[in-house]
Amino acid sequence: MKSNVAKNTGPEMILRHALFASALRGYRLHCKKIPGRPDICFTKKKVAIFVNGCFWHRCPICDLSLPKTNTEFWERKFELNKERDKRKIKNLEDLGWNVLIVWECEIRNELAETVAKIQHTLENLR
Ligand SMILES: [Zn+2]
Repeated sequence: MKSNVAKNTGPEMILRHALFASALRGYRLHCKKIPGRPDICFTKKKVAIFVNGCFWHRCPICDLSLPKTNTEFWERKFELNKERDKRKIKNLEDLGWNVLIVWECEIRNELAETVAKIQHTLENLR
């Protein structure tokens, strides 16, 4: 299916496998009924996880520079992306969800720490 191809991005798959391997298995994917459609969610504990691409969502760790052509266009586009992200998080938090943002580079560079962070969040909600 077309939509699955777009959504099953590399980093997200890596994270899902790692969560599964860590026995963090009570999650659902692309939770349509939850505002903002988190990539991964633990519905019982109300933990929503967004896997964000560093380029599109302007990762603070990578702090990537803007493309050199059409800079204004990109600036505006990224501003809108960031605003949308903020709104999504706020909406969910207002509904009592705990929101975790996981950056693509964290998955690529610090997978164990990222899984530990998620595990920690889940355990503290017990
Ligand atoms: Zn990054």
